[in-house]
Amino acid sequence: MTVKNIKAFGTEAADALLEPLDINRREATPKDVEIDILYCGVCHSDLHFARNDWGFSVYPVVPGHEIVGKVTHVGDDVTKFQTGQLVAVGCLVDSCRTCNNCKNDLEQYCPEWVGTYGGHDKHLNSPTFGGYSESIVVDEDFVLSIPENLDLAGIAPILCAGITTWSPLRYWNVGKGTKVAVVGLGGLGHMAIKLAHALEAEVTLFSRSPKKTQDAMDLGADKVVISTDEDQMNDVQGYYDVIIDTVPYAHDLNPYIGTLNTSGTLVLVGYLGPMDAMVNSIPMIMGRKAVAGSLIGGIAETQELLDFCGKHNITSEIEIINIQDVNEAYERMLKSDVHYRFVIDMASLKS
Ligand code: NAP
Ligand code: ZN
Ligand code: ZN
Repeated sequence: MTVKNIKAFGTEAADALLEPLDINRREATPKDVEIDILYCGVCHSDLHFARNDWGFSVYPVVPGHEIVGKVTHVGDDVTKFQTGQLVAVGCLVDSCRTCNNCKNDLEQYCPEWVGTYGGHDKHLNSPTFGGYSESIVVDEDFVLSIPENLDLAGIAPILCAGITTWSPLRYWNVGKGTKVAVVGLGGLGHMAIKLAHALEAEVTLFSRSPKKTQDAMDLGADKVVISTDEDQMNDVQGYYDVIIDTVPYAHDLNPYIGTLNTSGTLVLVGYLGPMDAMVNSIPMIMGRKAVAGSLIGGIAETQELLDFCGKHNITSEIEIINIQDVNEAYERMLKSDVHYRFVIDMASLKS
């Protein structure tokens, strides 16, 4: 298969900075859409993967899975997209299409799902590279349409931060009056507040950062609880139906489980790995409470979310950066200094 050499930004090792790299993309097959990337969001997962926090990164790593761009070419068999159209690509670029998860629009749980970066491109027999790059070639089944009324750069984070919080909100039937809490106000957290609010839930933010209180209220939270303040935590014992926990590092879940109502569920979407401290089963058994996890969302559900955002005029709160600033953006992300998603203007890659 012929390949095209393009510019990208990535890293060759866990302890190296991100820098300009050349990578190969496949030439579009008949089912492929080739997209010139205009904006790419910066997810905390990009940082985890670039630095091998999860232990399975393959280098070089080119992160980025919140992609908005313009179609520059479509293969002969493409029916859904046209050259010149503005489109989006999220965390998934392929899956087996035949397993039960794929048949049920749950491609993210397909044993053979292909991540936008760090996955396996079966056409090239090589790792996939993400959106910190000039262009990307994606099977049309994994390309999304975007609402015309929304700011392009502000759409990008919907593709990961949005869908990762939307999927559990929908699965756990969040709607009018549901008592929802969100742990952590970063990229995922701020989208969770906006989306739960738009679903007419009653929304609380659990945060360690009192200075984010006003922002949380402006985003749609009804209340902010400072999670390190014991009195504030005691006031909300037994209250929530659903908690979406976006914290990226190991932390104690037990104080949050205490704030669940009978039959409530705490959904982990952030930290991946063994919990520290251990979870105490007593309040879970005594109150039929659950701790669950959730991974991004399927393609149909991501399209549903993009359409919902178009209807409700929802985009992410973003700070636009140049690709050359991405290493500094990672350091700010580690200090919880994100308001509330960095989005890279990919034109900067050409400069
Ligand atoms: P982010 O923008 O850095 O936000 C994380 C927020 O968590 C911070 O702003 C902070 O909020 C809080 N926090 C950070 N460190 C903490 C600590 N040690 N203890 C307690 N709270 C802490 O990150 P993000 O992009 O939203 O991503 C969050 C996590 O979700 C990452 O681990 C990412 O890999 C993961 N993720 C998972 C999926 C999935 O499919 N499940 C998809 C995307 C991302 P406060 O200042 O308010 O406390
Ligand atoms: Zn992500
Ligand atoms: Zn499958």
